[in-house]
Amino acid sequence: MTRYVMVADLRRCVGCQTCTAACKHANATLPGVQWRRVLDIEVGEYPDVHRVFVPTGCQHCANPPCMDVCPSTATRQRDDGIVTIDYDICIGCAYCAVACPYDARFKVTDTAFAYGEDAMAHEEKRHDPRRLGVSTKCTFCADKVDAGCAQGLTPGVDPDATPACVNSCIAKALHFGDIDDPDSNVSQVLEENAHFRMHEELGTEPGFYYLWDRK
Ligand code: SF4
Ligand code: SF4
Repeated sequence: MTRYVMVADLRRCVGCQTCTAACKHANATLPGVQWRRVLDIEVGEYPDVHRVFVPTGCQHCANPPCMDVCPSTATRQRDDGIVTIDYDICIGCAYCAVACPYDARFKVTDTAFAYGEDAMAHEEKRHDPRRLGVSTKCTFCADKVDAGCAQGLTPGVDPDATPACVNSCIAKALHFGDIDDPDSNVSQVLEENAHFRMHEELGTEPGFYYLWDRK
């Protein structure tokens, strides 16, 4: 089997938000919508205080509460673990947004562009009116992953089969790949480093891992 996951190395992320910008560029999400966010967290006690930057977004949970509550079956899970939303079926009730413990879902009802009424070039090209009035979230760039696989490329290794945020990261903090393949890039970094997942105690089985130290 294949299970795609994202890995973020918290030692490397510098909080530049290039991944956030790359996601917005690739998907032309509307103002206020950030499928890839980077949390800026202060840890420690004065004078020993640090800032930690935590990339986040849809965790593509193996046990996703958003899917359980969806009354229209618009939210589904692919065999490779990617959680999807069928915009043609979603009724915009936003139950999923309430159920998601990671605040990963967005619903926008009106079209607006980054700089007012005139769309920027990428917005003109990629604005998707089907995303108005329905629930949206990070897709793990599933269309790109599928197109790349169809060409024999490897997601997480070949840029043309890899999510935009991962390709853009200036610090090589983000990884993407198949955790079910023991030889994959993500399996290797998880093998070598101590890691955790966000709110594991909830039983959602997130597909998003955080590295924080060597083993
Ligand atoms: S992070 Fe939220 S939206 Fe994404 S699969 Fe998990 S519960 Fe669903
Ligand atoms: S692009 Fe990389 S370094 Fe910059 S915020 Fe995103 S994960 Fe962190």
